[in-house]
Amino acid sequence: MHSTATQHNPMWLPHVITIDGPAGAGKSTLGELLARRIGYLYFDTGVMYRALTLQALRDGYNLHDAAALEQLAHAIRIDVVPPTVDDDRQYTVLVNGNDVTWELRSPEVDRHVSLVSSYPGVRAELIRRQREIGLRGQVVMVGRDIGTRVMPDAPLKIYLQASLEARARRRLHDQQRQGLAPTLEQVQAEVARRDALDQHVMAPASDALVLSSDNITPENEVDWILAQVQRDTTP
Ligand code: C5P
Repeated sequence: MHSTATQHNPMWLPHVITIDGPAGAGKSTLGELLARRIGYLYFDTGVMYRALTLQALRDGYNLHDAAALEQLAHAIRIDVVPPTVDDDRQYTVLVNGNDVTWELRSPEVDRHVSLVSSYPGVRAELIRRQREIGLRGQVVMVGRDIGTRVMPDAPLKIYLQASLEARARRRLHDQQRQGLAPTLEQVQAEVARRDALDQHVMAPASDALVLSSDNITPENEVDWILAQVQRDTTP
Protein backbone atom coordinates (compact mmCIF):
# COMPACT_ATOMS: atom_id res chain seq x y z
CA MET A 1 0.00 0.00 0.00
CA HIS A 2 1.22 3.49 -0.80
CA SER A 3 0.45 6.38 1.47
CA THR A 4 -1.85 9.08 0.13
CA ALA A 5 1.14 11.39 -0.23
CA THR A 6 2.97 8.84 -2.38
CA GLN A 7 -0.13 8.17 -4.40
CA HIS A 8 -0.43 11.88 -5.21
CA ASN A 9 3.25 12.40 -5.85
CA PRO A 10 3.53 13.74 -9.41
CA MET A 11 6.20 11.07 -10.03
CA TRP A 12 3.40 8.54 -10.04
CA LEU A 13 0.93 10.50 -12.16
CA PRO A 14 0.41 10.50 -15.92
CA HIS A 15 1.55 13.85 -17.34
CA VAL A 16 -1.80 14.38 -19.04
CA ILE A 17 -5.24 13.08 -18.08
CA THR A 18 -8.03 13.46 -20.63
CA ILE A 19 -11.74 13.51 -19.83
CA ASP A 20 -14.15 13.30 -22.74
CA GLY A 21 -17.87 12.73 -22.95
CA PRO A 22 -21.18 14.28 -23.93
CA ALA A 23 -22.66 17.58 -22.73
CA GLY A 24 -23.84 17.55 -19.14
CA ALA A 25 -22.10 14.32 -18.07
CA GLY A 26 -20.27 16.22 -15.32
CA LYS A 27 -16.87 16.49 -17.00
CA SER A 28 -16.10 19.97 -15.74
CA THR A 29 -16.95 19.20 -12.11
CA LEU A 30 -14.85 16.05 -12.27
CA GLY A 31 -12.03 17.73 -14.17
CA GLU A 32 -11.72 20.60 -11.74
CA LEU A 33 -11.87 18.34 -8.68
CA LEU A 34 -9.33 15.89 -10.05
CA ALA A 35 -6.95 18.68 -11.09
CA ARG A 36 -7.18 20.28 -7.66
CA ARG A 37 -6.56 16.96 -5.89
CA ILE A 38 -3.35 16.28 -7.81
CA GLY A 39 -2.18 19.87 -8.27
CA TYR A 40 -2.63 19.91 -12.05
CA LEU A 41 -3.93 22.62 -14.35
CA TYR A 42 -7.58 22.17 -15.29
CA PHE A 43 -8.27 22.99 -18.93
CA ASP A 44 -11.80 22.92 -20.32
CA THR A 45 -11.34 22.94 -24.10
CA GLY A 46 -15.05 23.62 -24.75
CA VAL A 47 -14.45 27.27 -23.79
CA MET A 48 -12.37 27.75 -26.93
CA TYR A 49 -15.22 26.66 -29.20
CA ARG A 50 -17.63 28.74 -27.12
CA ALA A 51 -15.39 31.82 -27.25
CA LEU A 52 -15.15 31.60 -31.02
CA THR A 53 -18.92 31.16 -31.35
CA LEU A 54 -19.62 34.14 -29.09
CA GLN A 55 -17.28 36.38 -31.04
CA ALA A 56 -18.76 35.27 -34.36
CA LEU A 57 -22.27 36.02 -33.10
CA ARG A 58 -21.25 39.42 -31.78
CA ASP A 59 -19.51 40.35 -35.02
CA GLY A 60 -22.47 39.22 -37.14
CA TYR A 61 -20.70 36.38 -38.95
CA ASN A 62 -22.68 34.05 -41.17
CA LEU A 63 -22.30 30.84 -39.16
CA HIS A 64 -22.49 28.79 -42.35
CA ASP A 65 -19.39 30.48 -43.78
CA ALA A 66 -16.72 27.94 -42.82
CA ALA A 67 -13.86 29.88 -44.44
CA ALA A 68 -14.67 33.10 -42.57
CA LEU A 69 -14.95 31.23 -39.26
CA GLU A 70 -11.65 29.52 -39.88
CA GLN A 71 -10.05 32.93 -40.40
CA LEU A 72 -11.62 34.15 -37.19
CA ALA A 73 -10.25 31.06 -35.39
CA HIS A 74 -6.75 32.09 -36.47
CA ALA A 75 -7.21 35.74 -35.52
CA ILE A 76 -9.01 35.49 -32.19
CA ARG A 77 -7.11 35.74 -28.95
CA ILE A 78 -8.44 33.46 -26.23
CA ASP A 79 -6.89 33.41 -22.77
CA VAL A 80 -8.04 31.15 -19.97
CA VAL A 81 -6.70 32.36 -16.61
CA PRO A 82 -7.41 31.66 -12.93
CA PRO A 83 -10.68 33.25 -11.68
CA THR A 84 -10.45 37.06 -11.54
CA VAL A 85 -13.86 37.46 -9.86
CA ASP A 86 -15.18 35.54 -6.86
CA ASP A 87 -18.54 34.49 -8.36
CA ASP A 88 -18.38 30.68 -8.51
CA ARG A 89 -16.52 30.60 -11.82
CA GLN A 90 -13.93 27.86 -12.45
CA TYR A 91 -11.69 30.21 -14.49
CA THR A 92 -11.85 33.51 -16.31
CA VAL A 93 -11.98 33.52 -20.11
CA LEU A 94 -10.74 36.59 -21.96
CA VAL A 95 -11.50 37.10 -25.64
CA ASN A 96 -9.26 39.74 -27.13
CA GLY A 97 -8.70 40.93 -23.56
CA ASN A 98 -12.38 41.15 -22.50
CA ASP A 99 -13.90 38.98 -19.79
CA VAL A 100 -16.63 36.84 -21.41
CA THR A 101 -16.72 34.02 -18.85
CA TRP A 102 -20.49 34.00 -18.26
CA GLU A 103 -21.51 35.04 -21.76
CA LEU A 104 -19.98 31.76 -22.96
CA ARG A 105 -22.77 29.90 -21.14
CA SER A 106 -25.67 31.75 -22.78
CA PRO A 107 -28.39 29.72 -24.51
CA GLU A 108 -27.47 31.46 -27.77
CA VAL A 109 -23.91 30.16 -27.60
CA ASP A 110 -25.24 26.73 -26.56
CA ARG A 111 -27.45 26.69 -29.65
CA HIS A 112 -24.73 27.56 -32.16
CA VAL A 113 -21.50 26.17 -30.74
CA SER A 114 -21.79 22.70 -32.30
CA LEU A 115 -22.24 24.15 -35.78
CA VAL A 116 -19.17 26.37 -35.41
CA SER A 117 -17.22 23.40 -34.01
CA SER A 118 -18.11 21.22 -36.98
CA TYR A 119 -15.79 22.97 -39.47
CA PRO A 120 -12.51 21.08 -39.96
CA GLY A 121 -10.50 24.30 -40.40
CA VAL A 122 -11.84 25.70 -37.14
CA ARG A 123 -11.11 22.46 -35.31
CA ALA A 124 -7.59 22.21 -36.73
CA GLU A 125 -6.63 25.64 -35.37
CA LEU A 126 -8.22 25.19 -31.94
CA ILE A 127 -6.80 21.67 -31.60
CA ARG A 128 -3.35 23.03 -32.43
CA ARG A 129 -3.66 25.53 -29.56
CA GLN A 130 -5.04 22.90 -27.18
CA ARG A 131 -2.23 20.51 -27.95
CA GLU A 132 0.34 23.19 -27.16
CA ILE A 133 -1.10 23.50 -23.68
CA GLY A 134 -1.43 19.72 -23.26
CA LEU A 135 2.18 19.10 -24.20
CA ARG A 136 3.36 21.29 -21.32
CA GLY A 137 2.06 18.52 -19.07
CA GLN A 138 0.56 18.39 -15.57
CA VAL A 139 -2.85 19.07 -17.01
CA VAL A 140 -6.34 17.58 -16.85
CA MET A 141 -7.94 18.30 -20.23
CA VAL A 142 -11.67 18.12 -20.72
CA GLY A 143 -13.58 17.99 -24.01
CA ARG A 144 -14.98 15.67 -26.66
CA ASP A 145 -11.99 14.49 -28.69
CA ILE A 146 -9.06 15.01 -26.35
CA GLY A 147 -8.24 11.32 -25.98
CA THR A 148 -8.87 10.54 -29.63
CA ARG A 149 -7.44 13.55 -31.52
CA VAL A 150 -5.91 16.25 -29.36
CA MET A 151 -3.73 14.11 -27.08
CA PRO A 152 -3.97 10.57 -28.50
CA ASP A 153 -0.83 9.52 -26.59
CA ALA A 154 -2.15 10.61 -23.19
CA PRO A 155 -1.40 7.83 -20.71
CA LEU A 156 -4.75 8.10 -18.89
CA LYS A 157 -8.03 8.70 -20.67
CA ILE A 158 -11.45 8.86 -19.10
CA TYR A 159 -14.74 8.81 -20.98
CA LEU A 160 -17.52 10.08 -18.72
CA GLN A 161 -21.06 9.25 -19.69
CA ALA A 162 -24.52 9.61 -18.13
CA SER A 163 -28.13 9.14 -19.14
CA LEU A 164 -29.79 11.86 -21.21
CA GLU A 165 -32.14 12.67 -18.35
CA ALA A 166 -29.37 13.07 -15.79
CA ARG A 167 -27.43 15.27 -18.18
CA ALA A 168 -30.49 17.43 -18.90
CA ARG A 169 -31.13 17.83 -15.15
CA ARG A 170 -27.57 18.99 -14.63
CA ARG A 171 -27.87 21.55 -17.46
CA LEU A 172 -31.22 22.73 -16.09
CA HIS A 173 -29.62 23.32 -12.72
CA ASP A 174 -26.76 25.30 -14.36
CA GLN A 175 -29.21 27.46 -16.26
CA GLN A 176 -31.39 28.08 -13.21
CA ARG A 177 -28.31 29.29 -11.38
CA GLN A 178 -27.89 31.83 -14.17
CA GLY A 179 -31.44 33.07 -13.58
CA LEU A 180 -32.93 31.32 -16.63
CA ALA A 181 -36.13 29.27 -16.39
CA PRO A 182 -36.40 26.69 -19.18
CA THR A 183 -38.38 23.48 -18.65
CA LEU A 184 -36.67 20.10 -18.26
CA GLU A 185 -38.19 19.04 -21.60
CA GLN A 186 -36.67 22.05 -23.37
CA VAL A 187 -33.24 21.42 -21.89
CA GLN A 188 -33.46 17.71 -22.70
CA ALA A 189 -34.34 18.48 -26.33
CA GLU A 190 -31.40 20.91 -26.56
CA VAL A 191 -28.95 18.39 -25.07
CA ALA A 192 -30.20 15.67 -27.47
CA ARG A 193 -29.82 18.06 -30.41
CA ARG A 194 -26.25 18.90 -29.39
CA ASP A 195 -25.45 15.17 -28.97
CA ALA A 196 -26.54 14.56 -32.54
CA LEU A 197 -24.41 17.43 -33.84
CA ASP A 198 -21.39 16.45 -31.75
CA GLN A 199 -21.65 12.80 -32.79
CA HIS A 200 -18.78 13.10 -35.27
CA VAL A 201 -16.25 13.91 -32.53
CA MET A 202 -17.76 11.95 -29.69
CA ALA A 203 -16.54 8.42 -29.20
CA PRO A 204 -14.40 7.01 -26.41
CA ALA A 205 -10.78 6.38 -27.32
CA SER A 206 -10.15 2.64 -27.61
CA ASP A 207 -7.92 2.84 -24.53
CA ALA A 208 -10.26 5.06 -22.45
CA LEU A 209 -11.68 4.00 -19.11
CA VAL A 210 -15.43 4.45 -19.41
CA LEU A 211 -17.13 5.77 -16.29
CA SER A 212 -20.82 6.48 -15.77
CA SER A 213 -21.63 9.43 -13.51
CA ASP A 214 -25.28 8.38 -12.95
CA ASN A 215 -24.85 6.84 -9.51
CA ILE A 216 -21.56 8.14 -8.22
CA THR A 217 -20.47 11.45 -6.67
CA PRO A 218 -17.66 13.49 -8.27
CA GLU A 219 -15.48 12.82 -5.19
CA ASN A 220 -15.92 9.08 -5.67
CA GLU A 221 -15.15 9.44 -9.37
CA VAL A 222 -11.84 11.06 -8.44
CA ASP A 223 -11.09 8.28 -5.92
CA TRP A 224 -11.88 5.68 -8.55
CA ILE A 225 -9.59 7.33 -11.13
CA LEU A 226 -6.72 7.65 -8.65
CA ALA A 227 -7.19 4.02 -7.68
CA GLN A 228 -6.75 3.06 -11.36
CA VAL A 229 -3.57 5.16 -11.53
CA GLN A 230 -2.21 3.48 -8.43
CA ARG A 231 -3.10 0.03 -9.76
CA ASP A 232 -1.42 0.72 -13.10
CA THR A 233 1.75 2.16 -11.59
CA THR A 234 2.25 -0.24 -8.70
CA PRO A 235 4.98 -2.71 -9.66
O1 C5P B 1 -18.11 21.07 -23.19
P1 C5P B 1 -18.97 22.18 -23.70
O2 C5P B 1 -20.45 21.91 -23.57
O3 C5P B 1 -18.61 23.52 -23.14
O4 C5P B 1 -18.62 22.25 -25.25
C1 C5P B 1 -19.33 23.10 -26.10
C2 C5P B 1 -19.31 22.55 -27.52
O5 C5P B 1 -18.00 22.70 -28.06
C3 C5P B 1 -19.63 21.08 -27.66
O6 C5P B 1 -21.04 20.86 -27.75
C4 C5P B 1 -18.93 20.71 -28.96
O7 C5P B 1 -19.71 21.09 -30.07
C5 C5P B 1 -17.70 21.62 -28.92
N1 C5P B 1 -16.49 20.96 -28.45
C6 C5P B 1 -15.77 20.20 -29.35
N2 C5P B 1 -14.60 19.62 -28.98
C7 C5P B 1 -14.12 19.79 -27.72
C8 C5P B 1 -14.84 20.54 -26.78
C9 C5P B 1 -16.05 21.10 -27.17
O8 C5P B 1 -16.20 20.06 -30.49
N3 C5P B 1 -12.95 19.24 -27.38
